[in-house]
Amino acid sequence: MKIIGHGNIITCGEDNHFMSDGAILIKGNKIIEVGDTSSIQSRYPEAEFFNANGKLVLPGFINAHMHLYSTFSRGMALSGEPARNFKEILEKLWWKLDKELKSEDEIYYSAMVSMLEGIKCGTTSIIDHHASFGLINGSLDIIERAAKDCGVRSVLCFETSDRWGKNLCSESIEENVRFIKKTRSDRDSLISSTFGLHASLTLSDDTLRRCLEEASILNSGFHVHVAEGIEDVEDSLSKSGKRVVERLYDAGILSEKTLAVHCVHINEREIALLSTTKTNVVHNPESNMNNAVGVPPIIEMDKAGVRMALGTDGYTPSMLESLKVAYILPKLKYEDPRAGNDVVERMLFRNNAHILGLYFNNPAGIIKEGALADIVVLDYSPPTPLNSINYFYHMIFGIRDSDVDSVLINGEFVFKNREFTKVDYEEVMAKSREVAKRFWEKM
Ligand SMILES: [Zn+2]
Repeated sequence: MKIIGHGNIITCGEDNHFMSDGAILIKGNKIIEVGDTSSIQSRYPEAEFFNANGKLVLPGFINAHMHLYSTFSRGMALSGEPARNFKEILEKLWWKLDKELKSEDEIYYSAMVSMLEGIKCGTTSIIDHHASFGLINGSLDIIERAAKDCGVRSVLCFETSDRWGKNLCSESIEENVRFIKKTRSDRDSLISSTFGLHASLTLSDDTLRRCLEEASILNSGFHVHVAEGIEDVEDSLSKSGKRVVERLYDAGILSEKTLAVHCVHINEREIALLSTTKTNVVHNPESNMNNAVGVPPIIEMDKAGVRMALGTDGYTPSMLESLKVAYILPKLKYEDPRAGNDVVERMLFRNNAHILGLYFNNPAGIIKEGALADIVVLDYSPPTPLNSINYFYHMIFGIRDSDVDSVLINGEFVFKNREFTKVDYEEVMAKSREVAKRFWEKM
């Protein structure tokens, strides 16, 4: 057993509350009790004691949409004219990169680097969307190995797409099916899975039908990009006469188990479809800004009762960074300083937790008895009073990634007093540079 004691705890969840000099008792991978430090310590004197020493203790952050494979794009030179639009960004960068990811080392180190950087930013769970069309079969096992090596909770899938032809499409469907079957039997494990789809614009009706058939047998939802760029809408209209959400709805892809990522270019009817099917939408503000695709109708979706979560789309490993941008973006879009405050708070602290709960037996993203022991300790000394009502504004205006002091995942310290406990960070980065240099030569 372990005790995280003398912490200032923000529990999050529906009845969020603040506890000064609080303690969390952990047994195995779960939280057993939350209460007063002296009471818990005196009843469990044999437990390993971690002194949080007045630091802030929160549930670890959950990244609801990530591309771990994007690591080697960092600083990479691209030949030719710069991409002029979203479709060209896909063609000139991402599709070239995912076709060249061919070796175990390339996939492993891309994932490992992003995971370690996530942990340093307080991320304890990553819902990833993977593409490596140079090595499909077994690619999710390689990411699973990286996740277990550094100890980060992960939900994995492979992005099914027709863009590289029938054979590679079939192989990507098989990779999803194989990995879902493999992880399904152990919902207590650190690793879970869902069914990955790229986006309407690279999926034929026939492929959607095959994916639905397979996912239905496995009782799985989907993780799919939806109406990210206007190109996706144009393609869907020309293919089917339907807008993207309508096409996916008719194909049976939307449900309460599905993550519809982005939803930038959607109309009122599509918002209603997302709401009635209880489909989860994942917002990635920095990525949308960087790709110049637009801003999703956050307020309209919220009013219609759509559950919206927060991710990073590979733009950054940091959920705090994504949160801060998500907080200011609606103000600019709606030209209203009130816009989005409560919506964005719900994204990271309620809805991401809800989504993660789809994949594991116990709740995460909350500090309470029975929840998964995924916890971040932040070395933040508030210059003004901090409580369960205003903690969110301390996160927006005060707390930074550099405050992350320690991280526990599944009851285990993976980062303690600013040191990784399971891997040598510098060794991983050095090896990654070596692998990336060889990878760049292929690009
Ligand atoms: Zn994405």
